[in-house]
Amino acid sequence: MTDHDLPETGITPGGTSGAFRDVLSKDHARRGKPPAHFADMDEQERIARAAELGLPKFRVRQLANHYYGHCDVNAAEFTDFPAARREEAAAAFFPELIHEVTRQVADEGMTVKTLWRLFDGSLIESVLMRYPNRTTLCISSQVGCGMGCPFCATGQLGLTRNMSAGEIVEQVRVAARAMRDGEVAGGPGRLSNVVFMGMGEPMGNYRSVLSAVRQISAMPPEGFGISARNITVSTVGVVPGIRRLAEEGIPVRLAVSLHAPNDELRDELVPMNRRFDTTQVLDAAHDYFLASKRRVSIEYALMRGINDQAEHARQLARRLNHYGDNWAHVNPIPLNPIEGSRWTASDPEDERRFLEILHAAGITATLRDTRGQDIDGACGQLAAKER
Ligand code: SAH
Ligand code: SF4
Repeated sequence: MTDHDLPETGITPGGTSGAFRDVLSKDHARRGKPPAHFADMDEQERIARAAELGLPKFRVRQLANHYYGHCDVNAAEFTDFPAARREEAAAAFFPELIHEVTRQVADEGMTVKTLWRLFDGSLIESVLMRYPNRTTLCISSQVGCGMGCPFCATGQLGLTRNMSAGEIVEQVRVAARAMRDGEVAGGPGRLSNVVFMGMGEPMGNYRSVLSAVRQISAMPPEGFGISARNITVSTVGVVPGIRRLAEEGIPVRLAVSLHAPNDELRDELVPMNRRFDTTQVLDAAHDYFLASKRRVSIEYALMRGINDQAEHARQLARRLNHYGDNWAHVNPIPLNPIEGSRWTASDPEDERRFLEILHAAGITATLRDTRGQDIDGACGQLAAKER
């Protein structure tokens, strides 16, 4: 399959600076593909691969049941397989795509951040956050990111490549298995939510992300059975991606990383704004709400003295209320400053005022928690350090 090098990868912020040209040329230098994995194959490809191994079609269904139903990839667990064929089948369908490099734990074991190495040495990360009534996994969809948001650690890395559907889905399988087996503090449980808020811009890797969404949400043996309503796709505001996702008719939640209520400020904080401005982004987000009937999350990293003043909150409220009531939910989050950055987190006073102004304007908003801050919890910071 050609999950990589999709045309969407070419979407970069307008006004290509030298840095963006670098990112583009790096992306175009193809480095080979990850080994073919069960999660990258459609039904026909699986059947064909099985036939090459001399396995009949029904074995594919058994493998799907192992993979999605039981999160198993180990030959020893394929007890319904002829003993002599187990190893071969596991090797052919389930090559190791993500290898644990390090794991950091915080919040008394309720937050687990894992750094993974991919087949080509690329590093990506995922973060598991356990709460009393849900467990959320934050996953990566690209190695680095080409969108260049200056406050974001992943943005500083540039884009190396898109991840394959298998590489994305494997993060989910491993976490679902760890939860089930009681390997996360709090005892056995269930992975209930998945957010595409790790490294990368999901809309820049649309096809693999969509394939992953389908595999995460389908019921076993087609997928892991995590309801699409509990999956969030977060975008910097790639408008064609938002519109395409709306047409899929899958009830995933959309999160839009706005971070600024006007174009002048957003041009600076989110370079992609020069390509798709706040009006285009909010129009698309509101259309997504109309199509999906699901409230859109507006992500807003509060940066001291930059975008966290009363005037910004008022302007944000005005821009959102322009479309009507109750279609958006704002998630302000104190910026997690990256090393060497000129931006820093807001004063708690300013955060409070920001929220109050939104609430007074009838907008629902909750301060997003900053889980795992002591383990470099924000987007891409662990992988950035490791390099
Ligand atoms: N590229 C997508 C998804 C990955 S980033 C997007 O931008 O939406 C996930 C979220 O983390 C985004 O809302 C992003 O703006 C935010 N983020 C990035 N760096 C951050 C930082 N240093 N502090 C707080 N939030 C950050
Ligand atoms: Fe990419 Fe999102 Fe980071 Fe911006 S915030 S650089 S879009 S990962």
